[in-house]
Amino acid sequence: MKPLLIVMSAPSGTGKTTLCDLLLQEFPEITYSISCTTRAPRGEEEDGVDYFFLTQEEFNRRVKEGLLLEHAVVHGNCYGTPADPIREAFAEGQSILLDIDVVGADLVRQYIATLPAGDPLREGFTDIFIEPPSIEELRNRLVGRAEDSMATIELRLKNAQGEMDRANEFTYRVVNDELDLAYRRLRDIVMVRGGLL
Ligand code: ADP
Ligand code: 5GP
Repeated sequence: MKPLLIVMSAPSGTGKTTLCDLLLQEFPEITYSISCTTRAPRGEEEDGVDYFFLTQEEFNRRVKEGLLLEHAVVHGNCYGTPADPIREAFAEGQSILLDIDVVGADLVRQYIATLPAGDPLREGFTDIFIEPPSIEELRNRLVGRAEDSMATIELRLKNAQGEMDRANEFTYRVVNDELDLAYRRLRDIVMVRGGLL
């Protein structure tokens, strides 16, 4: 597969992690970009697997040293994408998958625009927005996941509309209604962009 820089965004609870996991299982040539965050681990999350869980001081240091490709405050916590693993993955012919918010996606888009035509990162840039079928269903999924407090769920729902208003900034949009169907649409996008279809 041609190396892709896949950027996926969605309101929290849409099913992005579920869809990303399916993609990573099917395509071993796609590496997941492990973000840094200042938020506390949730459920079974492990440091260095799901996120690098950092103190605010350590996060700030990495920003200052230019170690992050992009960073943003999302739902009150800092999140950022380590830059080095992306170039390293591309150097090895691997694709990389970023699960980041709409602000971060736009920062990556702006960075990509500064690269010369023909740069593999620019050629492989594939931005996808995953949409929930409705806000009501989003609430059901956040409650059903049972990992966040009600206050956190309300904050995430409050932010969801603003994120959905930015869906048109993305080249591709996939509604996660039926999981199987949504995954098939996502898979087709990746296969077409990767030159497999
Ligand atoms: P995100 O990563 O976008 O926050 P998750 O992948 O954690 O979301 O999914 C949120 C919840 O919704 C999980 O409990 C997951 O099992 C469920 N879910 C994901 N996709 C669907 C779907 N298509 N239909 C119903 N429930 C889903
Ligand atoms: P969660 O706390 O549910 O894991 O993630 C909350 C939000 O932060 C999601 O929209 C997720 O995509 C986003 N996010 C995760 N990592 C990053 C990152 O490195 N950068 C940015 N900008 N957003 C991120």
